[in-house]
Amino acid sequence: MNVADSEVVASVLTEKGFSVTTDINKASIILVNTCSIRENAEQRIWNRLRAIRHLKRNNKHLVVGLIGCMAERLKEKVLETEQLIDMVVGPDAYRDLPRLVEEAESGHKAVNVLLSREETYADIAPVRMDQNGVSAFVSIMRGCNNMCAYCVVPYVRGAERSRNPGSIVSEATGLFERGYREVTLLGQNVDSYRWEQGSIKTGFPELIEKVALISPLLRVRFSTSHPKDMSDDLLMTMARHENICRHVHLPAQSGSSRILKLMNREYTREWYMDRINAIRRILPGCAISTDIIAGFCTETDEDHELSLSLMEWAGFDFAYMFKYSERPGTRAARKLKDDVPDEIKTQRLNEIIALQNRLSAKSKKEEIGKVVEVLVEGESKRSREFLSGRTSQNRIAVFPKGDLKAGDFVKIFVERCTSATLIGKIVET
Ligand code: SAM
Ligand code: SF4
Repeated sequence: MNVADSEVVASVLTEKGFSVTTDINKASIILVNTCSIRENAEQRIWNRLRAIRHLKRNNKHLVVGLIGCMAERLKEKVLETEQLIDMVVGPDAYRDLPRLVEEAESGHKAVNVLLSREETYADIAPVRMDQNGVSAFVSIMRGCNNMCAYCVVPYVRGAERSRNPGSIVSEATGLFERGYREVTLLGQNVDSYRWEQGSIKTGFPELIEKVALISPLLRVRFSTSHPKDMSDDLLMTMARHENICRHVHLPAQSGSSRILKLMNREYTREWYMDRINAIRRILPGCAISTDIIAGFCTETDEDHELSLSLMEWAGFDFAYMFKYSERPGTRAARKLKDDVPDEIKTQRLNEIIALQNRLSAKSKKEEIGKVVEVLVEGESKRSREFLSGRTSQNRIAVFPKGDLKAGDFVKIFVERCTSATLIGKIVET
């Protein structure tokens, strides 16, 4: 999501005559786009700021801006903590950047951290900063109306608002016409996407169908679904369109209904399992990935075992796994005690990671001997003789180059695998 936001920021500033440089030493403005989701994400930003301090010593006209969630969370207070910062800009204030830059350039500290109920940057054509020219992010909504007890997102990104479907379809169409072959529709809870115009209501299933209809050669992905809202209707829409990728990211967070209740996730273990069964029933062969938090407030060994058994039962393809990190101002920080000792959190996280490594390896092994369709993204990082791409299930595959290029679709016979990658040969172009 931050990559998508940085592309909006780049667009706002290029309109005013700036251009993006990859050489930090040449930059006249450095904007650090930030995440507040866990404490270590913020720690990394402080380290990064320390690492660029010398640039300001060498160039006193350099403008340094802190943008995004951390800017929103800390507001003008950061100006007291970090002298280096000239600008503090929240995620809904990017249109104001040209004015803020001017203010900073005239020697004043510039701040805009106003959140908006309407801003979706719908009319801004993002300047693509990705390298491959094949896959791009398209933001379909901003903010979040859920109040998961551990989560800072609703406080730093504001209330949920959906973007006009017409602008989403035209952005995706423009990408396809420029050679892109994959778009990922982004939102904190895509299942609650909603747009009403007169009597026409567009929900997420209708939206994704519109994007899928742009061309069968355009792959469509999305992130993130919320288990409480993910409908059979969405799964049936996916089943109707082969170009909607066979992958659902469905964060479980915990396998214990007691912990889920404390987290205010609004579903139980049984409900989550029902949603996984629905995916298996309606979309056979669909990959499922998840997010798991280890050591949330009051979590016992028994709760932790329930997370492990849920993971084993679901056989997740992939997971993002985190230690619980208390975030100031959240419901958990106000109402619950962060009472699981750090060494227990670490131990539980390590068990979760070890299990997931085994599950990921198993799901890759099951692909050996199959023919899979891969969208080529570019050269493999390991060897220039190999290309790398992804299957519809979001599994990475590498294979000898042949005469293919980024953006081509190719059928690969899977010969072997590592725990993260399928390795195969081309069977048909
Ligand atoms: N909106 C998505 C959802 O509901 O799943 C993703 C939100 S968040 C950007 C990504 C993940 O970070 C969450 O799914 C959760 O696992 C994790 N996360 C959020 N707050 C956290 C916290 N305080 N400590 C540890 N992990 C956290
Ligand atoms: Fe955070 Fe929950 Fe919203 Fe996801 S759904 S962004 S975890 S509050």
